[in-house]
Amino acid sequence: MKYRWPTQMYVGGKWVPGVCGKTMPVINPATGETLTDVATADAADVDRAVSAARKAFDEGPWPWMDPLDRGRYLWRIAEALRKRAEEFSMTDTLNIGKPIRDTRGWDTPVSVQLFESYAGLADKISGKCFGTLPESFTFLSREPLGVIASIVPWNYPLTNAAIKLAPALACGNCVVLKPSEVAPLTALMLAEIAEEVGLPPGVLNVMNGLGGETGTALVGHPGVDKISFTGRLATGRQIMKLAADGVKGVALELGGKTPNIVFPDARLEDAASAALMGIYCHLGQVCVAASRLLVHKSIHDEFVDRLLTKAQAFRQGDPTDERNHLGCVATPIHLKTIEQYVEKAKSEKASLLMGGCRPDDPALAKGCYYRPTLFDRVTPEMTIAREEVFGPVLAVMTFSDEDEAVHIANDSDFGLMACLWTEDGGRALRVARRLRVGKVAINGGGAFRSGSPMSGYKQSGIGSDLGHEEAIHEYTHSKVILYSLAREMPAWPD
Ligand code: NAD
Repeated sequence: MKYRWPTQMYVGGKWVPGVCGKTMPVINPATGETLTDVATADAADVDRAVSAARKAFDEGPWPWMDPLDRGRYLWRIAEALRKRAEEFSMTDTLNIGKPIRDTRGWDTPVSVQLFESYAGLADKISGKCFGTLPESFTFLSREPLGVIASIVPWNYPLTNAAIKLAPALACGNCVVLKPSEVAPLTALMLAEIAEEVGLPPGVLNVMNGLGGETGTALVGHPGVDKISFTGRLATGRQIMKLAADGVKGVALELGGKTPNIVFPDARLEDAASAALMGIYCHLGQVCVAASRLLVHKSIHDEFVDRLLTKAQAFRQGDPTDERNHLGCVATPIHLKTIEQYVEKAKSEKASLLMGGCRPDDPALAKGCYYRPTLFDRVTPEMTIAREEVFGPVLAVMTFSDEDEAVHIANDSDFGLMACLWTEDGGRALRVARRLRVGKVAINGGGAFRSGSPMSGYKQSGIGSDLGHEEAIHEYTHSKVILYSLAREMPAWPD
């Protein structure tokens, strides 16, 4: 099936080429072929998009329209997205090498769900009144912030865009969305949907471009009120520094090094399946990838054997083939980074038990394929135990008691998520409380809930994407209005 992808920028309700006419190719990492060429934005395009968003916010109906109507727009976006679900799923699969079973089964349906969920938030935003005094009335209302620069990475192109847009729009803001230059297509397709449902011009603007050029210009633009960023820790740091000049708000969703703690009383078969899925799903290119496996020393050998046996059932290959569990990584540069981490782990004497190389199948030679990799006998100071590899590389460590498990888990600059497996409810809650992370999944954790917040401790970020209450705080200002009921003011000077 051939798709006709949008290749221009969506600015002020119109499709436009870049001011200087530059384009860049979008590559299929499974084949190395160019899918299409997409216009890239420079500082002049950024200025045009921010001005369109500014106008839509300052003059348009969007921030002050009946919030029920705003919610209806979001609902219509969800419906239109659902109708084009297959096209969106296949596009992200072709663009980043993620298996179609994942984009069809998770990315696209969750993105639909996000717009549905936040459609219902729009009219639940309320303020409060402070006590009562006989001669004054003080209340707080929540108002949209203005223009949001939403900058997203390539690992969940559609879902990351939906995570940013649904809450920001529900709260009445206008958005300039910059997808990753690696994977801009589904963000541009979302702009097609915005046009189709009649979203007022300038409420959503989408432009592709390089981080150092388009992204920097967007962050530094005086017309932007807040930057909502998801991506690497190093980029987050740069953005924070740049935002300081304009004293702009920043929300940062950064990397992770999720510990997955398996106690001896766990349901080991389930824990083993989840451990594999936690690191190898989308080849570990997931912010919450469970890249550190902490196993109680009494079950270490048995558990590692289970992992190695189960992993033999993986099918890796063409991401568009529904039967494949594993595709390829997103870019040749990223593949190189993963290879360097594996070499580093070997040089630091971690014990390689699986993978550590590209597949030898000649049919996969042109793509960015890398085999699922498992290192045993990892110690907490090794590089693969500390840095985010963002690849299919599992680091197995052992612990001897609850305290040691918590200590190793918390011994990280990151604090995005943790997983733990035990049948002892008291221990589960005790450990969950002691872990310095934004989210803890116990015994698998259950299904994704679009209303629950995503926030990191430590260097995993600042602020929160999602979460209904949290989103209101991220995307609105509080304004206090003090109203005097007094008929006479005290004289001054008296
Ligand atoms: P990245 O930081 O390289 O790029 C992310 C986005 O920022 C891209 O759109 C890029 O063009 C832009 N960018 C790059 N440099 C910029 C600059 N100087 N100014 C402004 N924008 C700039 O990240 P990536 O490689 O695309 O994504 C992988 C990272 O994303 C991983 O670290 C992963 O953990 C993280 N991530 C976090 C979450 C979360 O919720 N915490 C979710 C998904 C991904």
